[in-house]
Amino acid sequence: MIFYTPRMKEFILQEKKQLTHDVYELKYVSDTDMSHVPWQFVTFILPDGIGGRSYSVLSADKNEFVLIIKRVADGKKGSITLCDAEVGTSYKWVGPVGKFVLSEEKNAKLFAGTGTGVVPLYNQILTSLESGNTKDICLLFWVRKETDLFYQEQFNSLSEKYNNFEVKYALSRESIEGYHHGYITDFVDTDLSQRFDEAYLCWAPVVVDSMEEVLKKYDFDQEKIYTEKY
Ligand SMILES: Cc1cc2nc3c(=O)[nH]c(=O)nc-3n(C[C@H](O)[C@H](O)[C@H](O)COP(=O)(O)OP(=O)(O)OC[C@H]3O[C@@H](n4cnc5c(N)ncnc54)[C@H](O)[C@@H]3O)c2cc1C
Repeated sequence: MIFYTPRMKEFILQEKKQLTHDVYELKYVSDTDMSHVPWQFVTFILPDGIGGRSYSVLSADKNEFVLIIKRVADGKKGSITLCDAEVGTSYKWVGPVGKFVLSEEKNAKLFAGTGTGVVPLYNQILTSLESGNTKDICLLFWVRKETDLFYQEQFNSLSEKYNNFEVKYALSRESIEGYHHGYITDFVDTDLSQRFDEAYLCWAPVVVDSMEEVLKKYDFDQEKIYTEKY
């Protein structure tokens, strides 16, 4: 496992793709060569008094990084600055750092995330599958509405390629055929709790805390719950 000492880097926005009405995939490039660092995050130092904003790494290859950022319309402009930026804009940032670490054990892993909370999970799932883990790996991907979903093609192609990986999409504010309906916590029961050895949860503190509580209620080993809160 490789950890890098944080230091200031300069990256340039090379490509921008809109994935949903408010979620963007952003690819940055630099002359700094960095290895793939799954699950960790980078912190932009943004101008105009905005300050530091952290983003999980979706993927990295040598000197390129891909992030997925939600444009929070009523926020303090960190995500707006990044999502509205023109290709060619350069940024200072530090990282990657972070302890939301994927265990190297080849065991059954449950991943649960809401919205852009799936960004580090995608990275962890890919790493786990590519490492030859043949135990059950499941992602619960929750959003409010069908139009908030992204990366279905990527997750679906992973489930076609690896028969031990399944992805379940759920909508909390819409009831549409083909999707589960309800909150992320509705999915947990004794069966789910017994099926997995580890759980990786990512998103807003309140969602992560409730999911953790429900897992514990069904006797999931507390030591094997890993969380990242945005
Ligand atoms: C370790 C870490 C990793 C992160 N990775 C990502 C990532 O991969 N993608 C990403 O979009 N954001 C990520 N975030 C959140 C990001 O750092 C900012 O908080 C977010 O972009 C909002 O900043 P802002 O200045 O626009 O608004 P702020 O004024 O800072 O926040 C406005 C409100 O939006 C909430 N919020 C923060 N992030 C989100 C989100 N993704 N979706 C909905 N509401 C949100 C905040 O809790 C706050 O209530 C991460 C945060 C941390 C700590």
